[in-house]
Amino acid sequence: MSQINALSNSGIGVSFEFFPPKTEKMEETLWRSIERLAPMQPTFVSVTYGAGGSTRERTHHTIERMLKETSLVPAAHLTCVDASRDEVDEVVRQYRDTGVKHFVALRGDSQAGVGGEYVARPDGYRNAVELVAGLKAIDDFEISVSAYPEKHPESPDFATDIDLLKRKVDNGATRAITQFFFDNDVFERYVERVRRAGIYIPIVPGIAPIHDFTKIARFAGATGASIPAWLAARFEGLETDEQTRSHVAAAFCADQVLDLTKRGFSDFHFYTMNRADLVYSICHILGLRAAAPQSDAAPAAAA
Ligand code: FAD
Repeated sequence: MSQINALSNSGIGVSFEFFPPKTEKMEETLWRSIERLAPMQPTFVSVTYGAGGSTRERTHHTIERMLKETSLVPAAHLTCVDASRDEVDEVVRQYRDTGVKHFVALRGDSQAGVGGEYVARPDGYRNAVELVAGLKAIDDFEISVSAYPEKHPESPDFATDIDLLKRKVDNGATRAITQFFFDNDVFERYVERVRRAGIYIPIVPGIAPIHDFTKIARFAGATGASIPAWLAARFEGLETDEQTRSHVAAAFCADQVLDLTKRGFSDFHFYTMNRADLVYSICHILGLRAAAPQSDAAPAAAA
């Protein structure tokens, strides 16, 4: 990993989310992206946990490699799906022994897939509220949790949703990372609701650069995130034009984060999809810079 440093005087904090790679080729792509994004000095980098712990070993391997080969601070995502408390606790202890101090504690989705009815195991943690308490009982970890600016699809209303967030905070969560959203007014209204409910932890906007509009629109439908009509219009007719799509995506994402900074938000969590290109551009626009690599050679004397 190169020893270049970002200037950290922009007042902006970023974190990056990666998923554990399935193949050697995907592993190479991931590590190229990590290498490119590391100079942005993220507050932390998180690695997702596949449905029902399906990526358990791969998530662990990725986190372990980050700890060994980089100076990045990893955060391990963890879900309660289809696991007993003892099994989850064992995974947590393994992470702790590897040096992990930060978890993103989640309930996870039903084994039937996103949108399926969630059935908690009787001997498991029923939701993220209980998981946060379980983590805190093991060690004094830093704990981030999820938050939903458009409410979680299973929540009957915002009050229920925000009450659940409050219980996660009461149990020890110190940061909430949001589901992605594209309408900053929606996010700002949500943060106002959260503050009115007496929740004061940072609510960090989850930013999804749009690599593939059709895919993200499909995924948004399942997660309860809405796609404004004006955003869909920007990508209209670009299905087979990757280059223009990428320019439109960079322009939109830059607009979104710059507007959020004007509204007073300074920390951003990027869903990288293991790709550095768009995220790197946005970080640059936000004012983050990689300094020149330090060289042992003495600088040439000025004439
Ligand atoms: P919780 O916060 O426990 O609950 C979510 C909602 O369920 C609540 O808002 C509420 O409506 C309902 N609910 C739960 N318990 C109760 C109760 N007792 N009474 C009433 N209502 C209840 N998924 C993965 O599989 N792996 C990941 O790595 C992953 N990372 C994520 C990272 C972020 C930042 C986000 C926002 C989501 C992530 N997800 C991940 C998706 C997440 O697992 C799903 O959204 C899941 O459906 C809910 O998990 P949660 O931790 O948000 O649940």
